[in-house]
Amino acid sequence: MQKIILVMINLPVKTINKAFSYLLPPELQFIRAGWRVLVPFGSRKVEGFVVSTDSGNGDGLKYIIEALDDLPWFDENMLQTAKWISDYYLCSLAEAMRLFIPGKTGLKTSLAYQLCPDLSCNEIEAALAGKSDQYLAACEYLAGHGSASLPQIYKQLTGDCLKTLNYLVNKKIVVKKYSTVKQDKPKYETFLKLAITPAEAEQLLRVSGHRPARRRLLTALLSKGVLAKADLKLLNISQDTVKRSLAGGLIVAEQKRLLRNSYAGLAHEAGAIRLNQQQQQVLQQIMPAVVNRQYRSFLLHGITGSGKTQVYLEVVAAVRKKRRQAIVLVPEIALTSQIVARFQTRFNDDVVVLHSKLSIDERNDAIWRLRTGQAGIVIGARSAVFAPLDDLGAVIIDEEHEFTYKQEEAPRYHAREVALKRAELAEGVVLMGSATPSVESYYQAVRHTHTLLELPDRADGASLPEVELVDMREELRCGRRSVISLALRNLINAAIARGEQVIILLNRRGYSTFVMCRECGHVMSCSNCAVSLVYHKSGRLRCHYCQTSVTPPDVCPVCSSRYIRYFGTGTQRLEDELAKTFPTARMIRMDQDTTGGKLGHDRILQAFAQGNYDILLGTQMVAKGHDIKNVTAVGIITADSILNLPDFRAAERTFALITQAAGRAGRGAVSGKVVIQTYNPEHYAIETGSRHAYADFYEQELSLRQSLFYPPFSKITKLTVTAPEEGEVHRSAADIAAALTSALASSDSTKILGPFVAPIARISNSFRMHILIKSVENAPVRLQLSLLKLHLRADVSIDVDPVNVM
Ligand code: ADP
Ligand code: ZN
Ligand code: ZN
Repeated sequence: MQKIILVMINLPVKTINKAFSYLLPPELQFIRAGWRVLVPFGSRKVEGFVVSTDSGNGDGLKYIIEALDDLPWFDENMLQTAKWISDYYLCSLAEAMRLFIPGKTGLKTSLAYQLCPDLSCNEIEAALAGKSDQYLAACEYLAGHGSASLPQIYKQLTGDCLKTLNYLVNKKIVVKKYSTVKQDKPKYETFLKLAITPAEAEQLLRVSGHRPARRRLLTALLSKGVLAKADLKLLNISQDTVKRSLAGGLIVAEQKRLLRNSYAGLAHEAGAIRLNQQQQQVLQQIMPAVVNRQYRSFLLHGITGSGKTQVYLEVVAAVRKKRRQAIVLVPEIALTSQIVARFQTRFNDDVVVLHSKLSIDERNDAIWRLRTGQAGIVIGARSAVFAPLDDLGAVIIDEEHEFTYKQEEAPRYHAREVALKRAELAEGVVLMGSATPSVESYYQAVRHTHTLLELPDRADGASLPEVELVDMREELRCGRRSVISLALRNLINAAIARGEQVIILLNRRGYSTFVMCRECGHVMSCSNCAVSLVYHKSGRLRCHYCQTSVTPPDVCPVCSSRYIRYFGTGTQRLEDELAKTFPTARMIRMDQDTTGGKLGHDRILQAFAQGNYDILLGTQMVAKGHDIKNVTAVGIITADSILNLPDFRAAERTFALITQAAGRAGRGAVSGKVVIQTYNPEHYAIETGSRHAYADFYEQELSLRQSLFYPPFSKITKLTVTAPEEGEVHRSAADIAAALTSALASSDSTKILGPFVAPIARISNSFRMHILIKSVENAPVRLQLSLLKLHLRADVSIDVDPVNVM
């Protein structure tokens, strides 16, 4: 019998969905589940993740080559979370585990153990009384070697070294030292410090009247303590001066590891804020779970500006007080900087920012600070949910309803679900916040899966803005054909005249066209599915759910008008028109094209916040997250552009957009006003949105969802089938649908829709079709999909709980 380890190979091939067996050479016997290792695989050496150990006949097995770190990357909870992801989202375990390894890092964390310097031999012996010899032997070895890595210690001792060392660390007999990081390219910067005492420096300044550069240098060092290169430039101090001062023994140069962080220096002006009574009550409900290390999930439904972020700060503070770590998830990188600034102001260096647009160096530095315990708070977009933390106390999910929490490529995980799983395993809390919770989460909160918390008022006493719905059909009847209604024009003019600022939301770009009667607002929609029909280049209107297709009518089926229009394009035209209508207004645009780079979005927002512009216009990203007091007017050009998306969540998205947009107005002393232009003012999403009435919206939406068997009453699983040839994709999709139908037929709680041609029918010569499965529970569906081995097929991709059903 030999010890065998099972390794998932980290290669981007989903068909290798099994663990391979290897043997451990004698010097690596300490390796267990959770370690990253290098293994021979075919003719290559590849990275693998150890997932479990076994014992048996090892004949013919290869040995692993080396351990890639000096400590396991995955702890038990991370490993379990990865297993859950691979199970639930039907991806391979390696794919799921790869999510936890940030980028192409080549990061190697080295860990050494040392005896605590201030303990005497007697104290150690006393502390280890009754313990086996192993413990004392480990201490003796460390005493003799100063410091040692786990592999080194392992060579000396037998048994479970890691357990021994962890015990010693817990008892504060041994300390962990993260001394070097191999393979990483840490950056160092030179800092200058005084080599003489401040009194001596002051004395020098008094006596030497000349040498102005040296005076500047000494004065700056006296006031700031240290100077970096950039400071020298600013102070106009030459290298020559520095060299002479170094040679003269006045100053010294020191190397310091530079932690690359493009968020450093962001500050938030707000001083300490005391929670108001409502916030206090919310916090009091969360605290017991934080203090008692319990898994609990909370949904904080608080209107825009109600002080949710302030509550997050307090929860994180409490978690850190328990010496546990916290993850703060935000929907988009673009939205991060304001919240990062608030956390950094409160927690300083304890915060790291993680997201996919960071440079590799920045990310390595951030991960290094987390793994070494130098920081305990992670802020980031969805992938930050995988941060390597060994004692996760809380996950905060800001704007819980946002779709960006779902990854749209494999593995198609939802960060909220991963957070809930991870926190459950770690016995931490999850706090989800939103002004417009997703229907699914709110439903769960109502049914007590999450604890529902409410903040119904704005924190600083400001009131929600007044919302005016403008019926664009009425505009037309009055002979006004401009895309900017009279009411909106008046609002903008008045705000600008008072020196206040305006935000205008244009259509979201790149969405399919819907067809609407401009006379009565009727939108051509599918009678089976209650979603808008989509105009295709072929000239037909098609339902993206059930594939019904019809010829566009010449006259409106409701009012017989001939004035039928195709919507969804023309944002450029809207822009031009704004510029024409307000020729003197200073305008800045923000959308995909203008926000390249990490902080592009922030620069635009900052310039706007500083008052350099009167009007900020852009896609829906202008509606989110920021807090600019001088904005008193908000206009939404066509609320219908989202409402008429062929998606069953279109109403939910519309309600959220209106609420978010309205939430930008009147955050200061002056109250705000919002104009929403629509052809559909009676629609419940728009009507309830204009009244800030979430509960009313939720009720109507929920009954619609129930009658149409949509989530939360069903679970949806979406399959995309591809093939290089059109006939083939039809055949194979039909085969799959037939197989699924017979496998799942026994239950009437399952509905299979399709196959139908995907909205983007062809991507780079690959033809695409969708199959949608609606079921009360998705476990049986997932089971059948894996029994049919569909999750292993390269021509099938599976999306469990898709947010994009098109
Ligand atoms: P949300 O996250 O719900 O949008 P914020 O936490 O950003 O709300 O708070 C909105 C505004 O109110 C911010 O300017 C914030 O500084 C302020 N604020 C929050 N809590 C309080 C409080 N207890 N007292 C006074 N002002 C507060
Ligand atoms: Zn009509
Ligand atoms: Zn349909």
